[in-house]
Amino acid sequence: MKIDLHMHTPRCGHAQGQPFEYVEAARRSGLDTIAFTDHLALPDGYDPHGAYAMRPEELDAYVADIQEIAAASRSPRVLLGIEADWVPSHVAETARTIASQPFDVVLGSVHFLDDWAFDDPDHIEEWSLRDVAGAWDEYFETLVQAASSGLFDVMAHPDLVKKFGHVPPGDMTALYEDVAAALADAGVAVEVSSAGLRKPCAEIYPSEALLAAFRRAGVPVTTASDAHTPAEVGAGLDEVRAAVARAGYDAVVYFEAREMREVSL
Ligand code: ZN
Ligand code: FE
Ligand code: FE
Ligand code: ZN
Repeated sequence: MKIDLHMHTPRCGHAQGQPFEYVEAARRSGLDTIAFTDHLALPDGYDPHGAYAMRPEELDAYVADIQEIAAASRSPRVLLGIEADWVPSHVAETARTIASQPFDVVLGSVHFLDDWAFDDPDHIEEWSLRDVAGAWDEYFETLVQAASSGLFDVMAHPDLVKKFGHVPPGDMTALYEDVAAALADAGVAVEVSSAGLRKPCAEIYPSEALLAAFRRAGVPVTTASDAHTPAEVGAGLDEVRAAVARAGYDAVVYFEAREMREVSL
């Protein structure tokens, strides 16, 4: 089943195109199931330019828009999702907001290490001040913490830390095994995303080595484009699906009313 479980709307301030155009693009590409997962509003101070996420007061209208579009589309099936940031100081507030809406799926994302938006090109200079291996350790520790919080169904772009091509030297196998075991314990799924193909790292999130570790640990996977324009809907999905199959998966998952559904790849 062709699934794209991660796409945005202009409400986040950095995506283009109306939701119906994303649905039309999905239909043209033969996708069976898609989810809108726009960026949930961030806590005060984390989005100073309003360019990362929707404003809190937009959430109800976002939900209503997507519900209307979902009701009108038989194929593809359209799910109501949200991409929520892991902000450890605001867990209770995030949990309340998530619970206040009838989401099908909640993606959990680590876009911040403390208050550093490490994947924002506007803050790339911070990378030159950091030890790359240290940033990786901190990123994966944070990812595990987020996954273990119980807030999320799917961990999005699970090795986003590599986005600009900062990769520490040496063998990552032990780190990946630990991360995969922790995510398996947490009971979350992970996203296999084509977005990395369009970024300087020029590879899928997660890397084949990390994906193989997820497979060994029994972590379920879903597939996604992280589209921020209609043209990106389903982009790179063939490569993503090939990577999923190479890792040994024959099933993928999506979520309805926050229940995991497994279907054959
Ligand atoms: Zn975005
Ligand atoms: Fe993200
Ligand atoms: Fe996203
Ligand atoms: Zn994203």
